[in-house]
Amino acid sequence: MRVLLVEDETDMARALIAALGRQDISVDHAATLEIAGEAALNGVYDVALLDRKLPDGDGLSLIPLLRRVQEGLPIIVLSALSSSDHRVAGLDIGADDYISKPFSTDELLARIRAILRRPAQLGETFITLGELRFNLTARCAEINGVLLNLTRRETLAPEALMRRAGCTVSRSALEEAIYGFDDEIASNALDTHISRLRGKLAGGEVAIHAIKGLGYVIRAVS
Ligand code: CA
Repeated sequence: MRVLLVEDETDMARALIAALGRQDISVDHAATLEIAGEAALNGVYDVALLDRKLPDGDGLSLIPLLRRVQEGLPIIVLSALSSSDHRVAGLDIGADDYISKPFSTDELLARIRAILRRPAQLGETFITLGELRFNLTARCAEINGVLLNLTRRETLAPEALMRRAGCTVSRSALEEAIYGFDDEIASNALDTHISRLRGKLAGGEVAIHAIKGLGYVIRAVS
């Protein structure tokens, strides 16, 4: 599971990253709205945790963008702004839950578990290209109804490519989608990764092409 944590207080962020890490949850940490906005565009998160008082504005202002990129993304606000009015504002703009600071990490983990148990209100959503169908809710890809055997990380590349099918997706955008902020990425890691994926798509109606010096594009084979 991958979480976008938007929090400017270093100690709080560190504590949360450690607590989530112990549950095998990888965390992309953004300390400003600007960084969080860029990360959000990757559309790869299972949950977003949002502080409100950030150096460049109110964390709530990020919620419409998060919703545009990932419609069903569970969003939990973590804030010291805890009056009833504050909480109502957060929930009305689209947060799924609102936790007042200070809180225990056990409570946060329980709320994350609770939110992930909810069925997605909008049902499953898919992106389809030829015979390849990507399930955005379950994060899995299938060809003619047969599930592709991809590792969790391998599913991130087709998702990023299929969101922009027919357009070149830059190497840096793909690396951002596939790897965490703090992952050390070997220079050929992306190519190895895509080459494995191409192998699994070989012979089908959909192919991934390398665009020299730029990135990759996924297209239906004509
Ligand atoms: Ca803050």
